[in-house]
Amino acid sequence: MGSREGRKQHRQQHDLIPLAALISKEMKNEKMGKPTVKYGHAAQSKKGEDYFLVKTDCQRVPGNSASTFSVYAIFDGHNGNAAAVYSRESLLSHVLSAIPRGLGRDEWLHALPRALVAGFVKTDKEFQRKGETSGTTATFVIVDRWTVTVACVGDSRCILDVQGGAVSDLTVDHRLEDNVEERERVTASGGEVGRLSIVGGVEIGPLCCWPGGLCLSRSIGDVDVGEFIVPVPYVKQVKLSNAGGRLIIASDGIWDALSSDMAAKSCRGLPAELAARQEALRTRGLKDDTTCIVVDIIPPENPLPPVPPPKKQNKLKALFFWKKARESSSKLSKKLSAMSIVEELFEEGSAMLAERLGDDHSLAQSTSGLFTCAICQVDLAQSEGISVHAGSIFSTSIKPWQGPFLCTDCRNKKDAMEGKRPSGIKVA
Ligand SMILES: [Zn+2]
Repeated sequence: MGSREGRKQHRQQHDLIPLAALISKEMKNEKMGKPTVKYGHAAQSKKGEDYFLVKTDCQRVPGNSASTFSVYAIFDGHNGNAAAVYSRESLLSHVLSAIPRGLGRDEWLHALPRALVAGFVKTDKEFQRKGETSGTTATFVIVDRWTVTVACVGDSRCILDVQGGAVSDLTVDHRLEDNVEERERVTASGGEVGRLSIVGGVEIGPLCCWPGGLCLSRSIGDVDVGEFIVPVPYVKQVKLSNAGGRLIIASDGIWDALSSDMAAKSCRGLPAELAARQEALRTRGLKDDTTCIVVDIIPPENPLPPVPPPKKQNKLKALFFWKKARESSSKLSKKLSAMSIVEELFEEGSAMLAERLGDDHSLAQSTSGLFTCAICQVDLAQSEGISVHAGSIFSTSIKPWQGPFLCTDCRNKKDAMEGKRPSGIKVA
């Protein structure tokens, strides 16, 4: 709203890209065709705090089925289910509302990482306003053709298995126990990190932060925990080759039981639905909830023309043919694994909003004198907007009067997350 002029400027900037480059890019995309996406889901509920979201009919351009993308998410709640339920209902729309309208596919995908940061922070802020004490992890996956974008806070993981054998993590675990960087950030922002209890002078249990006693370093909600437990997600965006791949998204119950590599390998060859069930049932004995979504990104059916069987040949010839075929098939498999290389488009995990929302010259400002808050998308009068860079260590290199801008509320939240002021909201 109020940023039509900004959008126009944005488009004009993009017009500067040589037309030939744009066309060749589009052609390359077209050549890869459109994959089929299939998914399976399974869960075991012990505490009723795991929630999931599957939405396969989202459209970038409403009414245009060619712009369809799908969303898969897991929310593993703690201290009740309110934060998980709220995030399931609101996170997607908060993310989408942070993307400028009228973008083409490539521009839209390019805008996603930033919109995910805004959407996560907005969801956290809106939920905290309710004053309920629960919190949740969020692992949020957007699949648009061959491009997979993952955002996460907490320790529900998303892994990628591609043909050729490489299994990779698309998320990082925000656990104080294993993540040294996060432990340092929490401590630097005013939190204390220690173990749950002291028995006979010895600290036991997982590392937690105080106040709050949470063992995660990032989450949505948790109003009763210090604001240094931030909702700013780690984001990774990759483009699969036209060999496709499989995503396994699951809550921590599964990852406590097995490594990413084991999880991927043990369900290879199974259809998505069975694979999800196998992973979720693996943890039958545990007290925690386990939820698993398996997403297969399958290349379009495009079989190579079949080789006609050799006719009327003697045994020697047949042997030659067989040998040749074997050679060429091993060449083919080499070629296949080379094609399976995943292109990394974006990766960023910083908890600092100034780094995540970036420099923004055109999108947030309109000629009507209004600015838009980069987090909650409310319109701001020119005098209201506070640059995300103002007062930060970056302000020496980046002009503090440049966008993106935050409303007073969001600016206060940013300062609280960075330990510059005490948390604004307290539960009665
Ligand atoms: Zn705001």
